[in-house]
Amino acid sequence: MKEKKKPSAFSALMDYAGGHKALTYFSLILSAITGVLALMPFVYLWRIIKEVIEVSPNFSEAVNITYNGRMAVLFSLIYMLVYFGALMCSHLSAFRVAGNMKKDLLHHIAKLPIGFADEMGSGKVRRIVTEATSSTETMLAHNLPDMVQAIVTPIAMVVMLFIYDWRFGLACLVPIISAFAMTFRMMGPKMAEDMRQYQNSLESMSNEAVEYVRGIPVVKTFGQTVFSFHRFKKSIDDYGDFCLKYTFECRSSMVLFTMFINSAFAFLIGLALFLTRGGAATQDILVNFLFYVIFTPIITTTMMRVMFMSENSLKIDDAMARVNSILDIKPLAEAKEKKTPSGAFVEIKNVTYRYAENANPAVKNLSLSSDKDQIVALVGPSGSGKTTAAGLISRFFDVQEGSVTIGGVDVREIGKDELMNTVSYVFQDSKLLKRSIADNLRIAKPDAEDEEIHNALKAAQCDDIIKRLPQGVDTVLGSEGTYLSGGEQQRIAIARAILKKAPVVILDEATAFADPENEVLVQKAFMELTKNSTVIMIAHRLSTIRNADKIYVLDHGEVAESGRHEELLEKNGLYSSMWKEYKSAISWKVGEAV
Ligand code: ADP
Repeated sequence: MKEKKKPSAFSALMDYAGGHKALTYFSLILSAITGVLALMPFVYLWRIIKEVIEVSPNFSEAVNITYNGRMAVLFSLIYMLVYFGALMCSHLSAFRVAGNMKKDLLHHIAKLPIGFADEMGSGKVRRIVTEATSSTETMLAHNLPDMVQAIVTPIAMVVMLFIYDWRFGLACLVPIISAFAMTFRMMGPKMAEDMRQYQNSLESMSNEAVEYVRGIPVVKTFGQTVFSFHRFKKSIDDYGDFCLKYTFECRSSMVLFTMFINSAFAFLIGLALFLTRGGAATQDILVNFLFYVIFTPIITTTMMRVMFMSENSLKIDDAMARVNSILDIKPLAEAKEKKTPSGAFVEIKNVTYRYAENANPAVKNLSLSSDKDQIVALVGPSGSGKTTAAGLISRFFDVQEGSVTIGGVDVREIGKDELMNTVSYVFQDSKLLKRSIADNLRIAKPDAEDEEIHNALKAAQCDDIIKRLPQGVDTVLGSEGTYLSGGEQQRIAIARAILKKAPVVILDEATAFADPENEVLVQKAFMELTKNSTVIMIAHRLSTIRNADKIYVLDHGEVAESGRHEELLEKNGLYSSMWKEYKSAISWKVGEAV
């Protein structure tokens, strides 16, 4: 289904339809039939007019009016029925395609490295999964059958136009061909590129909007406006600029297109005047002229459809390219022969990792290690690569150079489940689901007994939280006004990690807590969690790592220095200056409090 070389967006879409593919083809056949049926009522209407003119002024001789009227109604009904059938078939298949595409994307995303959504941008991923797939639904369910109709109707029309009077036929054909030419002018490779850019700017706006919404607390706290979110503002401006440019590019073609499709009357009347010059109006010319006058509005609607059809086919190509941009990302490779780590020592050896769009690597030739049950701290300025290093240990993404081993085994050779059981990651911004506290803990160990849950919560210093909640551990978070503070959330997340009992724990220390009491409890909970585990801790406050077995000071993705707290102070390097800064910040705070 996902071969690299795809013949066309349509056949790629049909791959997703599975057994429903035939329905799409059937709907196309029915649509083609409606293309001819659509003209029939007009033919019968014209017959009525023709008869009336021919028998005039003896109208009583017009005996076929009722028959022709009935036939016009009958063909209208048949048209409606067949069109309904065509749309029903196309919808059944289109929903299947959109559904299967979404499923495929989500299955694929589940296999991708955890770091993928961060790198691509969650707004962009959301837009592709929901909107790109839905646009294929509109295309297959509506545009495709309409497209077939829009092709068959003009062909049938041209045939008819030439049967009655080729001169009038030709007069109608001139605007049709000119309008077609304008449509193609708006459809070239340049326009495909514009469509891609248009979707890109929409995507980037969606990404930035998500970031903006996430940042609303900051905006409010600091009394900022949308203008402080430069990237969001820029993405809106870019979108606006692009739309203007795009509109100007299409302006002349679009105006000419509209002019041509509405000009059929002008050509017809001009020709009729020419043919009847000098008062030579014959009944034949009049009757034929009326035939073409009746048909001309159909030309306009049909051409409009052709116009939107071309725009939609550009959209569909773009949607497929976007869906494939996710499907083409390689999932984390699973080793054929999975190995089990023998021990909980961690080693990062000569590792380099560069995020897709960045010129500089986030970590560069990085080496660090931790023995079993040691506490290793990663410190360093913001952006020095601490989070990236920690993410590589838990295989949020794979190293590009070097290796990461746990218990002597490369993480790429450890089975996915085994690795999950070996490593616990406590995020700074703990993710708790809107479920009960017990259920949130059971994510780590689905078959945990109630007692184990209680013990883990107790060890993580959560007793006060549980007591406060109306239904204890069964309270659903986020319901009935049950919200936890940042520190409380992190304690629950620690309880979850304690329950998991993973031999390796990666801790991203939270930077700020609302109150000191919470901070003390979180520290105690950390201590419980770090018993009997190898801990890699991303430390933001130096006070918490004074007793660490090893401290790695990172700078620009490299280890600037390493050692124990006292050793590093003696070196008088980066750590020592960070420590001094930290001390003066503390005394400043104390002074301020006094
Ligand atoms: P730290 O945790 O020390 O603050 P990070 O590991 O988060 O540092 O970042 C290291 C470098 O990688 C920084 O330059 C940062 O801008 C970049 N970086 C981090 N995450 C991403 C990402 N998802 N996409 C692109 N660049 C990233």
